[in-house]
Amino acid sequence: MSVAVRFAPSPTGLLHVGNVRLALVNWLFARKAGGTFLLRLDDTDEERSKPEYAEGIERDLTWLGLTWDRFARESDRYGRYDEVAAALKASGRLYPCYETPEELNLKRASLVSQGRPPIYDRAALRLTDADRDRLESEGRKPHWRFKLEHTPVEWTDLVRGPVHFEGSALSDPVLIREDGRPLYTLTSVVDDADLAITHVIRGEDHVANTAVQIQIFEAVGGAVPVFAHLPLLTDATGQGLSKRLGSLSVASLREEEGIEPMALASLLAKLGTSDAIEPRLTLDELVAEFDIAKVSRATPKFDPEELLRLNARILHLLPFERVAGELAALGLNDADAAFWEAVRPNLSRVAEARDWWAVTHAPVAPAADDPAFLAEAAALLPEEPWDLSTWGTWTGAVKARTGRKGKDLFLPLRRALTGRDHGPELKNLLPLIGRTRAQKRLAGETA
Ligand code: GLU
Repeated sequence: MSVAVRFAPSPTGLLHVGNVRLALVNWLFARKAGGTFLLRLDDTDEERSKPEYAEGIERDLTWLGLTWDRFARESDRYGRYDEVAAALKASGRLYPCYETPEELNLKRASLVSQGRPPIYDRAALRLTDADRDRLESEGRKPHWRFKLEHTPVEWTDLVRGPVHFEGSALSDPVLIREDGRPLYTLTSVVDDADLAITHVIRGEDHVANTAVQIQIFEAVGGAVPVFAHLPLLTDATGQGLSKRLGSLSVASLREEEGIEPMALASLLAKLGTSDAIEPRLTLDELVAEFDIAKVSRATPKFDPEELLRLNARILHLLPFERVAGELAALGLNDADAAFWEAVRPNLSRVAEARDWWAVTHAPVAPAADDPAFLAEAAALLPEEPWDLSTWGTWTGAVKARTGRKGKDLFLPLRRALTGRDHGPELKNLLPLIGRTRAQKRLAGETA
């Protein structure tokens, strides 16, 4: 059977780096295996699901290049969940419970105070028909729990290795709410089974869910997929990431931090694996290097500084065609490959190119603090056309004439030509500045 994986976010918030790492790992796994990647919106939490979050998820994945082969939305499938729930009720695996949240809290607190695990006591299974009639006549509506088998549940996890749970150590999960709506624990299994998902790759916060979901797969007659649970990313201080953590959202990395998609992908594909983190310019390279067996069980830390360093290294390698759109969006419509290649070694973010565009194409107040020397240099400026050899020819002549060398030669020229002490190589900048501007700046004029 061909490999099929899914990324199943709930559209209840922005995707953060932790969520999108799981999307990326699923996508790489699918591509590596020649399988398919499904995007499924787990949107049965109607109060918290929002269309703008669903759009945000699609925008973030598209920006990263994580295209999906199939798309599903749980809210389209209520009829199917009802059908499965009816079958589970008929076979006695779903049973009605009437405890209120307060009653359940009391039960849990009492078990915990006795040092016992807070497992549901199955009191509802002991209700008689008369008890249920009485509760319903009081206006109570049932929620429905799945009756777990009290047998061992075992699987071989692609990241954690052999995992073992005892059914008796787990609470019967609620699958249907009082208002009749199915919950994630059920809907996810029905979808994974119906959509023939072969591998479920998700965060280790779902390990206990997997134990109960394996029994649900068996009860609904679905093939149990292979599971892989990845340790969740933490922030640089070791704190968990929350969906609402704005600054680590994919949207803010893209829109506020100026991060390139391949910088984020290069980092997230390797974080928490045995591979070194290196800049990669295409997802294909990451596919070639991907192997889920390289994912370690240690908790990976996400460090925004590391991402920014990687972003810089990626920019230093990216060809002009890959950034032309971004440069145009910054208003640099006339930027060309020569400009890009001149300035990219000095950038950590594409937006910083604006500063160098201003230096090469807009008036600059020069720092002309050695006028006699600069006048001599200006007199030696070659005629145009200028190219990448002009700087060497010119400074060679200035050196021969003035006897200056090293910093004494180059720094006054840089300060006059750019108004700054540091920047891209002047060999590259000079032809972009052009003879007219260069001459004026050497004369101390703003030009
Ligand atoms: N909607 C769930 C989540 O975002 C999906 C978990 C799963 O992959 O099954 O955590």
